[in-house]
Amino acid sequence: MNNWFTEFWTNHIKFSIRIKEHLFSQQTPFQKLDFYDSYELGRFFTLDDIMMANEKDEFIYHEMMIHFPMTVNPKITNVLVIGGGDGGSVRELCRYSSIKAITMVEIDEIVVRKAQELLPQTAHKLSDPRVKLIFADGCQFVRDTKEQYDLIVIDSTDPIGPGEGLFSREFYQNCAKILKPEGIVVNQHESPYFEQTRIEMMRAHEKLRSIFATATVYQAFIPTYPSGHWLFGFASNTQKPQSINGSKELIDSFNLKYYNHEIHLASLVLPNYVKDLLKK
Ligand code: SAM
Repeated sequence: MNNWFTEFWTNHIKFSIRIKEHLFSQQTPFQKLDFYDSYELGRFFTLDDIMMANEKDEFIYHEMMIHFPMTVNPKITNVLVIGGGDGGSVRELCRYSSIKAITMVEIDEIVVRKAQELLPQTAHKLSDPRVKLIFADGCQFVRDTKEQYDLIVIDSTDPIGPGEGLFSREFYQNCAKILKPEGIVVNQHESPYFEQTRIEMMRAHEKLRSIFATATVYQAFIPTYPSGHWLFGFASNTQKPQSINGSKELIDSFNLKYYNHEIHLASLVLPNYVKDLLKK
């Protein structure tokens, strides 16, 4: 079958994946949702024709998103996940018996239900008794909630469509209001490489830096995201990203495929061009 899924990384660069089967397609009230089966990446899903997660490399994104802050502050017990519809972030959080509650606020219930049906590799822990699923706009939730959190994970789409508000100053300010003093915010922080994601990355960084005492980025190499060079944001008023406070034995017991304490520190060592962008 000569079928390909193609994503435009820029107006002049395309990324294509040969697919076995187009498993599902629906225009939800928020975005276009598609699931595919492919020869090399296993199953994957897209939102508005942008790669979200695939069976082959989703571990990189989800391990770095979660084990990085959990290692900085192993006392995290109450977690808020904004977005994260495929469940990969929740799966990694559920590895920690020390975590008592995970609230996941996802705007699009159809993403969650189809991920549970078609992508159990990421979604299978959404039924964990500690997980509370709320189908709502994350911007509204952080504005209204009276709860306080140790960790806020902003596992968002790009700042277009429903995800745009998750990159706004007001949203970050409201996250700061509901974050406990020892708390940490991590976010999907785009990429420094292509112009569009670079601009979004710099905008997000400038806002976070103006709100939190510490705001920086750490990096991972995710082959199926535009350029492969991807960033995560780390923000806190008390915690430092380079602090390795979690136990090596615990991390080793998880048998992770990407994250380890050496990668934790190395991910903070940024190329000069990225350091320059963050200064602007
Ligand atoms: N975890 C995936 C990955 O590996 O990169 C991608 C992120 S996840 C699929 C992004 C989720 O954010 C989507 O399920 C989308 O529906 C959700 N989302 C977008 N805007 C939102 C909003 N304003 N509030 C809550 N969830 C939102």
